[in-house]
Amino acid sequence: MIGHAVVTGGAGFLGSHICERLLARGAAVTCMDNFLTGSPRNVAHLLGEPGFRLTECDLTGFVHVSDGVDLVLHLASAASPVDYLRLPVETLKVGGLGTLHALGLAREKHARFVLASTSEVYGDPLRHPQREDYWGNVNPVGPRSVYDEAKRYAEALTTAYRVSRGVNTGIVRIFNTYGPRMRPDDGRAIPTFICQALMGRPLTVAGDGGQTRSICYVDDTVAGILAMAGDDFAGPVNIGNPEEMTVLDLAVTIRDLAESESPIRFVERPADDPAVRRPDTALARDQLGWRPTVRSEEGLRRTIDWFARELDVRAADGAIST
Ligand code: NAD
Repeated sequence: MIGHAVVTGGAGFLGSHICERLLARGAAVTCMDNFLTGSPRNVAHLLGEPGFRLTECDLTGFVHVSDGVDLVLHLASAASPVDYLRLPVETLKVGGLGTLHALGLAREKHARFVLASTSEVYGDPLRHPQREDYWGNVNPVGPRSVYDEAKRYAEALTTAYRVSRGVNTGIVRIFNTYGPRMRPDDGRAIPTFICQALMGRPLTVAGDGGQTRSICYVDDTVAGILAMAGDDFAGPVNIGNPEEMTVLDLAVTIRDLAESESPIRFVERPADDPAVRRPDTALARDQLGWRPTVRSEEGLRRTIDWFARELDVRAADGAIST
């Protein structure tokens, strides 16, 4: 049973779902965020809940929590390519200094620490599917390196704190996750395709769309992260859904589920875009008893429904033009 959890990046997409789930389990939650890519709006519905506290805080600066802490979940980081390419130094700083401060907090409080790492540590992988013992294929000076290398450094820092500072740490490598509360403009394939389909605009598929992705519904990812939080396992452990599809299939599936007639438009593929992505999830299953349960069609349907409502709200507010 978790008493008090600190969730860094808690006002982001994944963090807000984690805060919700922890509160539902009876934990007190301190959500720390500087709203760089997240928003207080994502946790506004939690503000009245007993035990929930929202603290505006930049993790790269001074971090302090006055009461006891049992768990530090470190999610603070820009996560979508649009965000980290716009915020390269901020991304490296939160992966380095931010992780150092979050680890320091866990050490001071004798708390379990879980780092939200990423499948991007595998880079453009030369092994498929990706197992945790694969070291990856990352270009250290490519445009995506600000994110990939920040997370690789954060993994090294987390491991050093476990080995030399005695902190009970764990690392989860999260694969592409989707669901309600993603930003329509965050540039990731799923919100982009959904918004384009709902607005009757062309679905912009990068390259020939033959590159693959494995997509995991947010409820499953959150369950995996919390399984790791409740364990003493160091990891790293992959959390993702091994159901793999091409980006073109993903676009067509979304268009069909949204009952849209948008055309597909092929656009230039970004530099160092990985050709394939699929987690090997045997370790998560054996060590944590976790496996994803939401099939992609069901998860996409729920996400499309949420975006349809969200776009209506934004259109009514004049935030977007339909
Ligand atoms: P997000 O951008 O929605 O959330 C990240 C949050 O971190 C935001 O609320 C942002 O304001 C906050 N943040 C950034 N810098 C900060 C700083 N210096 N101090 C305090 N807060 C800061 O992204 P997300 O998709 O929810 O991702 C959350 C975490 O999970 C990230 O660490 C990301 O790398 C990891 N991850 C996510 C995915 C995915 O598919 N969503 C996949 C792999 C890894």
